[in-house]
Amino acid sequence: MDTKWLKIEKENMDSRLLKEAGNIIKAGGLVAFPTETVYGLGGDALNPESARKIYEAKGRPADNPLIVHIADFADLERIVSYIPETARILAECFWPGPMTMILNKADCVPYETTGGLSTIAVRYPADRIAQAFIKEAGGFVAAPSANTSGKPSPTNAGRVYEDLSGRIDMLLDGGDCEIGLESTIIDLTEDTPVILRPGGITMEMLMETLGCVDIDQTLLKDDLTTPPKAPGMKYRHYAPKGQLIIVEGGQEEVVSKINTLLSQAASEGKRTGVIGTTETVALYHADSIKNAGDRKDEEEIARNLYSILREFDDEGVEVIYSEAFEAKGLGQAVMNRLLKAAGHRVISAK
Ligand code: AMP
Ligand code: MG
Repeated sequence: MDTKWLKIEKENMDSRLLKEAGNIIKAGGLVAFPTETVYGLGGDALNPESARKIYEAKGRPADNPLIVHIADFADLERIVSYIPETARILAECFWPGPMTMILNKADCVPYETTGGLSTIAVRYPADRIAQAFIKEAGGFVAAPSANTSGKPSPTNAGRVYEDLSGRIDMLLDGGDCEIGLESTIIDLTEDTPVILRPGGITMEMLMETLGCVDIDQTLLKDDLTTPPKAPGMKYRHYAPKGQLIIVEGGQEEVVSKINTLLSQAASEGKRTGVIGTTETVALYHADSIKNAGDRKDEEEIARNLYSILREFDDEGVEVIYSEAFEAKGLGQAVMNRLLKAAGHRVISAK
């Protein structure tokens, strides 16, 4: 299959092109498209055959359910059995945006889309290209991140092409993603809402809106005995090919510890990399030094993380040390992804 890579301007969207993309979905094909979080690999959410194709194109285990994307709140009631009041409140505050809600599914949604579950994950993205494309596609687009399963999610079209060229019909190139990390997932099927994956809508924002919110405890620690509630969170994820290790502690201690570890790795003949911040990058000695951004600017760090992890792969870096980030606000999502990418390898600088 030839993958058509087509650029699309947010300010001046080509309606013919969007219609062509929408028709591919309606005919059971696959189209990757930009959203404000990461690129999505889209197929018709109501067509079981499309869901099967998505799993195959990504190499994704079929028990890892897909998020269904809509472009109109009114469409929600068609794919869920019931809309609780909390869902209405959250939608009012955070949709369109980087928040996915888990609700009970309606009968029209095939089990292939939900990985065999009777619940469904739904998001209304804010990206205008995504919205226009979803409407042309019939309103219900199942889309996981548009990467090969296990790799860091793509935040630009080039990274999608690298992974999925020849496996999908079309790639809509809308430039770089604004947020760069996947959506927050919140489960509304239990009495208390539970965050299953931290993301752009932070725990603090959800607490302020709902008063009471839990977080799936398996996200915060390396607990291999309890499976996480979002099936996808149990898989190794977001990982670069090299070995990534996180170093925690005060800034000076961390820089000094990482430099010691880097020189050890270099003396063993390994190609080394480091993820630092604007405050520290000048202090490191490694083959590849990446600046995740200013420590005070969590949004910048979130936006940069996945492209940095992929650049290490391009450069053949074998051992990577990263500074830790404070797990508050958007930092909670950054640390969650970094911990998964590192397979929870964390050491103290002391
Ligand atoms: P991705 O599409 O790559 O952003 O991954 C989607 C995430 O949503 C995975 O971690 C899934 O396990 C999770 N997810 C999708 N549907 C459900 C559901 N019904 N219940 C819990 N988690 C879900
Ligand atoms: Mg993913």
